[in-house]
Amino acid sequence: MSPRPPAQIGMPAGDIETPALVVDLDLFDANLATLRDAVRGSGLRLRPHGKAHKCPDIARHQMAAGAIGLCCQKVSEAEVFVAAGIPDILVTNEIVDPRKLARLVALAERARIGVCVDGMAHVEGLKAAVAGKGVTVDVLVEIDVGQGRCGMPPGPEMTRLAAVIADTPGLVFAGLQAYHGGAQHLRQPEERRAAIADAAAAVRRATALLDQAGLACRTVTGAGTGSFGLEMASGAYTELQCGSYALMDADYARNRFEGPVFAHALLVHATVISTAVAGQAVLDAGYKALAVDSGRPVPFEIDTDIIGMSDEHTLLRQPKDRALVPGDRVRLIPGHVDPTVNLHDWFVGVRSGVVEALWPIAARGPGL
Ligand code: PLP
Ligand code: MN
Repeated sequence: MSPRPPAQIGMPAGDIETPALVVDLDLFDANLATLRDAVRGSGLRLRPHGKAHKCPDIARHQMAAGAIGLCCQKVSEAEVFVAAGIPDILVTNEIVDPRKLARLVALAERARIGVCVDGMAHVEGLKAAVAGKGVTVDVLVEIDVGQGRCGMPPGPEMTRLAAVIADTPGLVFAGLQAYHGGAQHLRQPEERRAAIADAAAAVRRATALLDQAGLACRTVTGAGTGSFGLEMASGAYTELQCGSYALMDADYARNRFEGPVFAHALLVHATVISTAVAGQAVLDAGYKALAVDSGRPVPFEIDTDIIGMSDEHTLLRQPKDRALVPGDRVRLIPGHVDPTVNLHDWFVGVRSGVVEALWPIAARGPGL
């Protein structure tokens, strides 16, 4: 990672070196408060997903705003968050490499650690990793509630797996991982409602089977920014894993929301480096600063369109009302928060136009 941040504390936001990932701290604080208030009184626990930011400073703010712990997708993320003092981490993923399992179990000496499984091989791997270590690891069986990624169907095999976990020294059967990612970005509330109704029905089938076998589900965890109100209202879940809500992105802005709306707290600041071609302004940020898997970024508070992108450049149509010149700043709403953040080393936090925070994205990278 680059040891040199693109700004210094106290600097005007207009002096930040570009390309830079800039957080509006007032909007970020408001997003955290919005989710905290939406969940307050529901009895559900909030466990934000750290994959969206990979940043211990953001994790600490989330803990201060009512989170009981963080989710991670990778052991390397969990290591960074535990080192930063986050006391409770759930890896919402299946881990198979014995070296990774050993690192995960080592974290259980310093924090409460949970992990997901969807087959016997994962349980056997965990059993071997935890043997003789004197720690316990929470194990959640991941069920497929419509995502079609990891997760087994609710059924007898799921119940057998839970029973083996419950009988294995060092492992605790903690409940179910039941995340429906495909539901998050369905644009209409009715579509999301239908998808999460199906997910909640699958959860209920699973918990009924486990109950019959005398296996209590302490935790049923899932949900994201697009659907958390539905999981919350379903009564089937005990824990929410929203990630994007803290920073937001252009793709989520295309959802129609009925409940609380989160603000664009994250922008990429870029600089115009060329206007040599008539009608066009070229920015110093391209695919290496902005992920495009969920569509191109959206120019923020400027009347223009993106007409092209390449590795290090974004081409803008010159706005009608003013001509951009080299040195001008342009701000962009990232298309997709998680992979955009992963391209950068630092968040620059700005309040009232002044740089107030420099937060390392300490867990960035593909994740070991
Ligand atoms: N939980 C899991 C397992 C995820 O993979 C994700 C994101 O993809 C989330 C939670 C958070 O979702 P969102 O960023 O939509 O809030
Ligand atoms: Mn995402």
